[in-house]
Amino acid sequence: MTYQHCFADGTPVDLPVGKVVCVGRNYAEHAKELNNPIPAEPLLFIKPSTAIAPLAEPIVLSPSRGPVHYETEIALLIGSRLSGEVSEAEACQAIAGVGLALDLTLRELQDQLKAKGHPWERAKAFDGACPLSLFVPVADVPVLSELSLELQINGTLRQQGSAEQMITPIPRVLQQIAEVFTLLPGDVVITGTPAGVGVLHAGDQLQAAIPGLLAQATAVRG
Ligand code: ZN
Repeated sequence: MTYQHCFADGTPVDLPVGKVVCVGRNYAEHAKELNNPIPAEPLLFIKPSTAIAPLAEPIVLSPSRGPVHYETEIALLIGSRLSGEVSEAEACQAIAGVGLALDLTLRELQDQLKAKGHPWERAKAFDGACPLSLFVPVADVPVLSELSLELQINGTLRQQGSAEQMITPIPRVLQQIAEVFTLLPGDVVITGTPAGVGVLHAGDQLQAAIPGLLAQATAVRG
């Protein structure tokens, strides 16, 4: 299953496939539902490029490793290098496109790793752990801070959120990341998930959307 960044009209984006920098606990209601404190500064982690898969391809579960949870997130495709101290305007100018990600998580394994103080990679950075949708070119995105997202599973609305609810807004997220991890063209930033996360089951039909801009369906295979 090869992956290449593509725009919403299906044309390939002329950028390599880089790392994914992820923000945890960026929506207060989601932090609460997992009994996590709200962090004082953005909680950051990374998925390698090998975790990326096309969202349109079916999600394959591996029951021997435990249940896989979905977290639907707004994804930002980075088009130019961001490093060190950058202004909010520079951060926003580095965005090439906006799409959707699933931050797939082996939640039971993550809980075990957290309890031991171990890193999360086995639970969040495995192959296929970051399905990505097509990307809407940023020029077609009216207002970044008004982006919203939705996830329906088998026709039932399970997640709904808006960038307005983010604890750390998009420009500030990029600034904070760039101070620590240089963002390169082709990298992706995923911006946290709203409440409503849960387990995926074989046969589930998922419909993820940025209402008015993008919709993508996928399915779960056993
Ligand atoms: Zn997440």
